[in-house]
This record gives sequence, C-alpha cells and structure tokens, in this order.
Amino acid sequence: MFENNFTKQLVLIGGGHANVQVLRKLCMNTVKGLHTILISENFEATYSGMTPGYIHKDFSKEEISIDLQRLCFNAGATFIRDKVVKIETNYQKLELQNLPSIHYDLLSINTGSISNTKGIKIENSSKCFFVKPISLLVKNLSEIDQIIKKKKSKIAIIGGGVASYELAFSLSRRHKNNLEISIVGKNILNEKNLNKKTKKHIKKISNHLGIKELLGEVISISETHLTLKNGDTFKCDLSLLSSGADIENWLSNSNLNKDKNGFISVDNNLLSTNDKSVFVTGDACSIENNFRPKSGVMAVRQGEVLKENIFLKLTGKSLVKFKPQKNWLYLVGTYENYALLNYFFLSFHGRWCWKLKKWIDRGFINKFKFTNHMSMTKKNLELEKSKDVKMYCQGCGSKVSKNTLVNFLNEENSNPDLLDASIINTNSSNILQSIDHIKLFTSLNPYDFGVISYLHSQNDILSSGGSVQTISVSQALPFSEGIIEKFYMEYFMKGIKSESIKDDSVIVSGHSYQSKEPGITITMNGVFEKQISKNQGQEDDLIYLSKPLGTGYLLAAYFNNSDFLSSIDFQNLLEWLKKGNSKASEISKSFKSNITTDISGFGLASHLSDICKSSKLSAEIKLNEEIMINKNIRILENFKSTGFDNNYSSSVNKILISDSNKLKNILYDPQTNGPLLLSIHKKDQVEFEKKFQLELGFSPILIGKFKKSGDKLINVID
Ligand SMILES: Cc1cc2nc3c(=O)[nH]c(=O)nc-3n(C[C@H](O)[C@H](O)[C@H](O)COP(=O)(O)OP(=O)(O)OC[C@H]3O[C@@H](n4cnc5c(N)ncnc54)[C@H](O)[C@@H]3O)c2cc1C
Repeated sequence: MFENNFTKQLVLIGGGHANVQVLRKLCMNTVKGLHTILISENFEATYSGMTPGYIHKDFSKEEISIDLQRLCFNAGATFIRDKVVKIETNYQKLELQNLPSIHYDLLSINTGSISNTKGIKIENSSKCFFVKPISLLVKNLSEIDQIIKKKKSKIAIIGGGVASYELAFSLSRRHKNNLEISIVGKNILNEKNLNKKTKKHIKKISNHLGIKELLGEVISISETHLTLKNGDTFKCDLSLLSSGADIENWLSNSNLNKDKNGFISVDNNLLSTNDKSVFVTGDACSIENNFRPKSGVMAVRQGEVLKENIFLKLTGKSLVKFKPQKNWLYLVGTYENYALLNYFFLSFHGRWCWKLKKWIDRGFINKFKFTNHMSMTKKNLELEKSKDVKMYCQGCGSKVSKNTLVNFLNEENSNPDLLDASIINTNSSNILQSIDHIKLFTSLNPYDFGVISYLHSQNDILSSGGSVQTISVSQALPFSEGIIEKFYMEYFMKGIKSESIKDDSVIVSGHSYQSKEPGITITMNGVFEKQISKNQGQEDDLIYLSKPLGTGYLLAAYFNNSDFLSSIDFQNLLEWLKKGNSKASEISKSFKSNITTDISGFGLASHLSDICKSSKLSAEIKLNEEIMINKNIRILENFKSTGFDNNYSSSVNKILISDSNKLKNILYDPQTNGPLLLSIHKKDQVEFEKKFQLELGFSPILIGKFKKSGDKLINVID
C-alpha cells in the first residue's frame, strides 16, 4: 500500500452494494498514485438479498455480511469507521461525527436510504422499527424478538410492497407463526414489474401463513395502535416501517441537485448532475429521466459501472453509461427452502427457485470473502502524472511540506513558531525518558493508530512507576501530497493528542517525514515519586496482567485473511489495542506494588524472566484462556507474528513447560500496547481485584506468583 506516492484521494462513503465493488477492483489492481478511504458507520456491510434469509435463520450474520476492514486491507485502502454528517462540495470536504474532517479529490456516495416517515407522526413511546437501512433492521432484530417473545404479538408492517411481504414471510417463519402479522398500506403490491400470477402467489402464501392485509394510509403510530387517514385505528404491539425510501438530512442538505422526491440526481455516468467530482449510486440516487424503484439489484448493477467509471475518471478517459433495466428478476423467499420467481410474464414457486436465489446471492457475497487467500497478485494501473518514490530525496529532503506542517500547527495553535527546541519545566528531579516506535498497519484508521502508538509508548513510563509529562513525536507519513499528507498528519496527531490530554501531557516537539514505512516514534518524558525497578520482586507476591495477550498473532491471522477471525473478533482486538494501562498502574501503585513492567514486542516470557532474574526469584504461572484476547486456541496454534521466532529462541531455555500445553505460544507473542505485568502482595488480593474491577470494568488476570529461585526462571504448571 505504501509503495507509491499518493497524489489523488478517492473517498467512498458507505459500504453499499456499489462501493464494495470499487474496493474489490482495488483488491486486484494497484492504482499507482491513488489513496483510497472508505468511511462507513458500520464495520460490516449487510447484503440485502440475503437479509430475509438471515431473518428466518437460513444464514448466519457472518454469511450475509462483508467485513469492510478486511476488504479495505486487501484493497490497500484506509478504513474509517465513522458517520459522515456534512458534505461541503465547494471545499470538497466531509465532516464526520467523531473524527477530523476529510477532503477528497473524487467522492463516491453509496449510503443507501432510510425509511420514509413523511406524513407519519411517530410517538416516542411507540415500538416502531425502521426496515431501512437494512443494517439497522438486522441490528434491531434481537429487540424485536424480545417484544414478540413476551406474548403472541400483533405486528403491523407498514408498506405494501414486495419487501413488506418478504419481511412478513421471514418473520412468520422466524417465530414459527407465533405472531399475528398485518400488512398495512395505501397501495398493496402495485409494483408494475410484478405479473398477475406472482401477485396471486404472494397473496396465497400470505393467506396460508395467516398474514392479513389492510388498505389504508397510516398517519400516526403510538405504543398501542396505528391511526389511519380515514380515522380508523389498528391495534398492534409493534410496527415495522417499510414505507419506501428517503435520504438522510446531511445528504439532502448538501448542494447536490435532487430530483422531485429528494434523491440525489445523477447523470447516466452516475455522476451528480451538478458536481462532476461526486458519484452517487444505490438507493441514494435517482438517474435523471430514468426513475427506477430502489433495490439492492439496482445498486449492484450500478456498482459494475461505478467501478469502471471511477478509474476512467481518474485517468481522464471517457466514462461508461449506466443503462438501467426496465425489468429484472425477482426472487422472494417464501416457505422453508422455497422461493417465488418473477420475471416479465414468468412466475414460478418452488424449491429450485430457492436454490437459484441462494446460488445468485452466494455468488455475489463470496466475491468479498477473502478468508484463506494469503496474498493476491495485483495488476498495476497508473494515474496520470503520478510521481515515482524514487524521485524523492533521502536525508532531510524526505520531510513533509512546510505548508502542511504550518497549516496543521496553526490550526492546533500549539507551537506555530516552529521553535527548534522546547523548554520543559518540572519540579521533579526524577525524570524518566523513553522512546518507542510502531509501524502503521495497512487499512487501519491513522487516528486509532495515533491512539495506540501513544499508549504503547506510555507503557514504558508507567512500568517505571512514572506519569507522562511531555512527549516528542516523529511521524513517518506515506509519500503523499496535499490533502493526503494533511490527512495522515492530522489523524496521527489528533489520535495521539486524544490520549495525551487524558495524561495532561504536553506535546513539546515533533518531526515529520515521508517514508515507505509509515509509523510513529514517540519520545516521552515522565516523572516519578518512587521508581519501580525489575529487582524488587518478592517471594509469594501474586503476578497479574492488566489485560489479556495476543495482539501479535491475532493481527497476523486477521491480515492473512484467516477465517478463524471474524469482523467482530477484529473489533474486539481493536478495543483492547486502544485500551490504556494508566488506571491499572495507578491502582497497583495504591497497593504498593513492587513490580510493574509492560509486555511489549519481546513477549511475556522475556519480560517475566527478566524480572525473575533481576529479583533472584522464579515465577510459577498457570496459563488459561483468561489470558487470551481471543479464546479460539486454533488461531494461536496456527498463526505467529514475525517477531515470534526471535522471542522464542531468546526465552525458551528459561522456561519449564509441558510440550502438550496448548497455550505455550502465547508466552512468546509480541504485543503492541500490551498489558502491564503487576505484582501484588498476597494479603491485598481481594481488595486489589475488587478495586480493579470497579474502576476498569473488567478483572485483572492472575497468572501466578513469585517463588524461591529454581532451575528455571519460569515454571508453567498444567
Ligand atoms: C426487508 C427488505 C428486504 C429487501 N430485500 C431485497 C432483495 O431481496 N433484493 C434487493 O435487490 N433489494 C432488497 N431490498 C432493498 C435493499 O435493501 C436496498 O435497496 C439496498 O440495500 C440499497 O443498497 P445501497 O447500496 O444503496 O445501500 P446499502 O446497502 O443500504 O448500504 C449503505 C451503507 O452506507 C452506510 N452509511 C449510511 N449513511 C452513512 C453515513 N452518513 N456515513 C457513513 N456510512 C453511511 C450504511 O451503514 C450502509 O452500510 C430489501 C429491503 C428491505 C427493507
């Protein structure tokens, strides 16, 4: 990813059915000079075609989802998990809900739609769920289940289109008919592509499942009932709004042209009709003079054109036209292993239709499953005028541009004068200093990386019993220009700053340069009252870890596309990577802990044996699943970080462990922002654990105790 000089920034908003195809193209092609960012409010994209199947439990959540972080990793793109809340087309700028704004050279919006609530008053107390965006419906499903489980519920699906019926069929099967469903709509099944026979089939299946129909326009939804325009009321325990599509305010408030229904107007190249740096696809757009109902099928088809047009546009070539079909194949799941097929005048209901549906849907979603593809051969495409990294100077010439730096500092207002050095005032004569460096993982949000790099460095100060006072940062940014250089600098620094604020530590100096190996080096200064050194371990003191281990091999497994790790596993890993140790350090100090060290790249075995050696003791420890971030032992057995072998060879002789111990590899796993290893006096065990749990919300991990020096520095008992 970082091999080339980035000159253009492509930003994709939303992991919809079209944008994921752009990323897939990037999995097979490297576009020299192009930096791509995906901003998505979810880690996963939900595939609409399989969602009804998920509701009636034919597929698991994983089967219907695309892991966007992994897709970005394989595409060499950066994944930012956040929600876009404003678009300023004049400045080619996007405002995000939580993170700093991002500029684009070319933008692709594929953010789907929300349920249309126009003309419907929804009371706060109502149990009303929106079926769009479809990811929200999936998220809310367990809450819907809880309501339904309480009693034989009355459900109203407000809509009347084919999606309402498919939803009704799948809910009916999910709850084994233990609910009363009514479809309430001002029009029932009036999609013009549905032929008469299909409509008859749908009605027959509905009848058979006891699904009722009610013709009427809903104008308000309360906790207990719906009110129709003609004044009638309809009792229900919960309602699902499947009443058509709308777009969110941030998009409708933009300067982009809209059609009469409020959707973004695009030409037949899928470019906004008034801004040729913005592509819009899927539910969010309407093609000028070519209205089509919103559907996942349409978004997929548009993706096939979008993935070509983006690269044609970037290279200044003529674009391909999207020709929307007038009619397309409908496949609607009905009973178990049955589907209904509608195509022009054809209509079939049978098992083979379900098989066909599964085959088509799996064919699409499997294109985005990378599991067990260790590496991909990529073709090279090139943007016009992209520069080669070879042209860049080494030495001091690899610095970032002065403009980027000064603009950033001015915005931050922390050190606008670019002083050569800073004066540090401290009352303490006990000063600690440390330096650490970590390299950026491909696809990781650079803001999160800034957070992780700060915490990783902070561990050095904490393990000496100190607190951070000042820091100096050296950032290696990828070779890049303008808005891309700015993006990395801002995201790295703001990530670092978000943690330094918590410590009240000051960023006193910095350096930035460009490199093929982006990363962050942090020098930290800290002060301490009582220094903790490695030779103070005491016999019988208990040994704890402040959090679990496993960042090395888990990152290796995830980025080697192992199917042992899902998107949820990665999210869990990221949570631990972003968890700091300062609170744990404070608590251990309050219990007069003699020993604190951090488990870093050398792994647990190395750090613990160093302490034992300096303290002239041995450690007796027991390894159990609690010690692991991810409890799946198969991952540990099958994956190793590149640092593992060195760690193993330098520590293996110091340890007594049975060969059959399934967790033995965890001893040598290198950690990024790993846990602190703490010693606590035995008498304080209960109080320490209680305080830790109370203040941190999870338990410290007791791994063993120190004992008299023996043959080996560490004995692992089974
Ligand atoms: C019950 C039901 C069943 C359906 N079944 C089918 C079917 O079988 N076949 C079919 O063709 N269609 C079906 N549809 C229609 C289909 O769901 C939509 O038409 C389709 O999902 C739209 O795709 P899209 O690519 O536009 O966006 P989506 O697939 O909705 O993706 C949009 C993405 O953008 C993200 N996003 C949104 N806003 C932001 C933001 N501000 N910042 C960052 N990210 C954002 C969302 O989280 C989401 O991941 C069904 C709909 C429903 C309600």
